[in-house]
Amino acid sequence: MQRGAVPFLVSATAGTTVLGAFDPLEAIADVCQHHGLWLHVDAAWGGSVLLSQTHRHLLDGIQRADSVAWNPHKLLAAGLQCSVLLLRDTSNLLKRCHAAQATYLFQQDKFYDVALDTGDKVVQCGRHVDCLKLWLMWKAQGGQGLEQRVDRTFALARYLVEEMKKREGFELVMEPEFVNVCFWFVPPSLRGQRGSPDYQERLSKVAPVLKERMVKEGSMMIGYQPHGTRGNFFRMVVANPSLTLADMDFLLDELERLGQDL
Ligand SMILES: *Cc1c(COP(=O)(O)O)cnc(C)c1O
Repeated sequence: MQRGAVPFLVSATAGTTVLGAFDPLEAIADVCQHHGLWLHVDAAWGGSVLLSQTHRHLLDGIQRADSVAWNPHKLLAAGLQCSVLLLRDTSNLLKRCHAAQATYLFQQDKFYDVALDTGDKVVQCGRHVDCLKLWLMWKAQGGQGLEQRVDRTFALARYLVEEMKKREGFELVMEPEFVNVCFWFVPPSLRGQRGSPDYQERLSKVAPVLKERMVKEGSMMIGYQPHGTRGNFFRMVVANPSLTLADMDFLLDELERLGQDL
């Protein structure tokens, strides 16, 4: 503001990459409406939750967005890549932004409505017909089939969280809102040491060591990262609907096994 800059857009996130957090869209939409700001919702990760009657409340307010990005290739497991940009705009905005009107490519004097052509509306020009994958998957699974997939991943994540709470060596970063289960594995030598000055530093070295071990063992692949002031923690994203409760138990047993000497 001091520099005379005028904000024109708010980009909210529905399902953040690491923690799986959802911004309060209704409240943000109120602010945007009041100030006449464009509201974009990055629902790349969390957008698929809309298919679940049980969990869609996480996205309440998304209907007020001016634009929404959603990746069916994430939680719905559509073949990479399958990304959707939804716009409220009906004035052919994409064409107005991107069209180069190359006369050697895009003829306007065709026998059908040329507004249906996508080639001149996007930056890339040549494209896969990625939406066909989503359409076919939706046809094959039905809305209910996709809903079950989403609900199943939530149930598996919930099971994993409850089992973690029963075991000594697992500490949750937070109660998950979504299917990102963020946690530290606290190895035997660090248990009960939380008060010691180098605890955080030692704890943050655990995840890289365990990751190396699980990869070399060939048993699992779980991502880890630091986040803000928090040292490295694991982020188990339960997104595959064919996972089972037994897989969740295996994950916990395997981490205990791989980390027992640490
Ligand atoms: C994955 C992700 C993106 C990036 O999506 P791409 O289609 O890979 O560019 C953006 N935002 C969030 C929150 C994501 O999880």
